[in-house]
Amino acid sequence: LVQWYTETNPESAREAKDAASVLPGGNTRTVLHQLPFSMALESGKGTLVTSKDGVEYLGFVSEYSAGMYGHSHPQIHKAVHEALDIGINLGSVIGKETEFANLIKERFPSMELMRFTNSGTEANTMAIAAAIGYTKQEHILVFKNGYHGSTLTFGENKPVTNLPHKFIVGTYNDIEATRRLLRFGIAAILVEPLQSAGGIIPATGEFLKFLRDAATTLNAVLIFDEIVTSRLDFYGLQGYHSIKPDMTTLGKYIGGGFSFGCFGGRKEIMQQFDPTRSAGHLAHSGTFNNNVFTMTAGIAGLKLTLPGEISRINALGDRIRESINELAEQHGLKDEVKAVGFGSMVGVHFQNRGGQLLRDVFYFELLKRQVVIGRRGFIALNLMHTEAHVNQFVNVASDSLGLLGRNLKEITLDV
Ligand code: PMP
Repeated sequence: LVQWYTETNPESAREAKDAASVLPGGNTRTVLHQLPFSMALESGKGTLVTSKDGVEYLGFVSEYSAGMYGHSHPQIHKAVHEALDIGINLGSVIGKETEFANLIKERFPSMELMRFTNSGTEANTMAIAAAIGYTKQEHILVFKNGYHGSTLTFGENKPVTNLPHKFIVGTYNDIEATRRLLRFGIAAILVEPLQSAGGIIPATGEFLKFLRDAATTLNAVLIFDEIVTSRLDFYGLQGYHSIKPDMTTLGKYIGGGFSFGCFGGRKEIMQQFDPTRSAGHLAHSGTFNNNVFTMTAGIAGLKLTLPGEISRINALGDRIRESINELAEQHGLKDEVKAVGFGSMVGVHFQNRGGQLLRDVFYFELLKRQVVIGRRGFIALNLMHTEAHVNQFVNVASDSLGLLGRNLKEITLDV
């Protein structure tokens, strides 16, 4: 398969070689790094992407969840043109940030006041700063396999340095183990209501409610990182679970496909950023925080992301999960393959005998059939996906899993 991939993607191979001379590993975003080399794309339209080698694929990566609108959605396209005519970044307040903030607040009423940033990493960094400033405490409770940004990652791939905070790392979804870590002195509990990079693992409602109560008891700030999960319910997973965090961070799709992050929450906490407060206000700046592109595209995007549309793609995700699990059973892979997740986000996990190898074979077999997912088994649906696309995916997955099932012994022997 690797030989097939190498032979059929000579342009991507060339790109990778050129890139490696100026970018470590030929890349500027580690998640995109893959062996033998990453596929370079030329363009995207709707749910389709075209490689530099001229092959068109049905895409299920959706920009690792940020691509809620597919590629070149007409409404977003229009908004971007409008932004070009207005001016890209005016270095002033522009009014659109207020309209955008109000649209966000409609979905996240717990965000009484908010500020924009350029990335999710920055949003979480600022939320932590706000919690420390507000509580005057310094420990931050996070969870194993949590991912809150490039410098805030708690999985196996450690960053060069985590931001210099006193982190306590708990076990996700484990109430008893977490209870043993609770102590006064915790400024914030930072949690994803579904671990995205950690494998599309939803938190249980009980776990989130336990964290809510713990934060209240300890006078700590509960921060929900809804950077990914805001796409799973019109009111985010906080709405779904009816839990009100003290702060929320957002990013990814909410920026309409442009660089974006947002942090906000209870008025008393967020007022620290009000420069009119005489003493000890927290500074927060950022050249591109209210750039015209993100504000305009974000507004246009949120107007498209209506509850009915979110439910529709969530149901498509349910179908993918159910189909993969049924196919795994049919093809004798029940112990090897399991699809998990929530709504429009699916994680396909390969476990036991040669899990990683099976995962790679599945990925390449899908590619052969002109379907692309994230190599780690990542699937995110977007508003352009229809039932027909899901049918196509299920057919192709059936062929690929059938082949895996028939060859399981040989594949395992190779490990
Ligand atoms: N939090 C979560 C839950 C994320 O998945 C990500 C990005 N994958 C981030 C934060 C960081 O966002 P950004 O890449 O925009 O810095």
